[in-house]
Amino acid sequence: MSVVDTNRPEAAASNEEITATDASPREKVRQPGRWSLCGKRALVTGGSRGIGRVVVEELVALGAAVYTCSLEEEELVERLKEWQAMDLPVARSVCDVSVHDQRERLLREVTDHFGGNLDILVNNAGTAIRKSAMEHSAGEYSFLMATNLESAYLLCLLAHPLLKASGSGSIIFVSSIAGVVALFSGPIYGMTKASLNQLAKKMACEWAKDNIRINSVAPGYISTSLTERIFSDKELKDNIVRRTPIRRVGEPDDISFMVVFLCMPGSSYITGQTIPVDGGMTINGFYPKYD
Ligand code: NDP
Repeated sequence: MSVVDTNRPEAAASNEEITATDASPREKVRQPGRWSLCGKRALVTGGSRGIGRVVVEELVALGAAVYTCSLEEEELVERLKEWQAMDLPVARSVCDVSVHDQRERLLREVTDHFGGNLDILVNNAGTAIRKSAMEHSAGEYSFLMATNLESAYLLCLLAHPLLKASGSGSIIFVSSIAGVVALFSGPIYGMTKASLNQLAKKMACEWAKDNIRINSVAPGYISTSLTERIFSDKELKDNIVRRTPIRRVGEPDDISFMVVFLCMPGSSYITGQTIPVDGGMTINGFYPKYD
């Protein structure tokens, strides 16, 4: 449907010639694809629960077809049954993203599934070990580096040809505000997330010429299985809420909204950014009598 801006007679005279810059706000919103992901193909790692699950569902709700993976087959199969019952176009593989052979196999499966096309890669799979620097073992260092950082970096390299061919590829790292400020979530976890934020900057500069954008979404404290133990400690949870200007912990769909926005054509001028979605926790200085 074409919409004529009655305040601009020149546009009314030649409605066909309206360009993105000429268009009225209403026309812009209605431009095909501006607020839609119809026809896009996405790979989301760690989609069986938590933030990844909601990202999968939100991408699909906006019109994308999604492929996802996780480590535990049982939960993934359960999730797929639910998605199939709702007629959602989601496919899946079991894959440990920290293992190179398995990442390569995943990319082959995704390539086959989408006929060689991929527009969106959401590097969401990750985990945390909450210990102090002195308590960590060398094995935990390698495990966290491989799971949270190496997996995302090397998946980007594997997916690069497909994302480049799409003409408007979008990569999202689900990092953390633990990679922005110092939190009690463990130094190695924070290092992996800070590295993802830096990687987004570097790759955004290198891959802009390939029409691939790369951004980091940095969640604050979000209700998922990863934070179950933290939130079961009432005093600790109350402290977190008190430290958060918006005065609540986050929900997975607080994060998925930002992830899908960064995949849309409307965000096509945003790249290399780290965007905290944290109820304001990272901008909070010191308000001793806030309430
Ligand atoms: P959950 O533990 O609820 O979900 C994690 C998902 O990642 C699961 O699907 C899990 O599946 C998958 N996963 C973990 N390791 C691997 C692996 N090696 N290979 C494949 N899949 C894997 O966590 P969240 O949803 O909370 O976390 C998602 C992302 O958000 C993580 O990167 C996390 O660091 C980040 N984040 C979370 C915050 C929070 O407060 N919840 C805050 C800041 C960042 P399976 O168990 O089958 O392996």
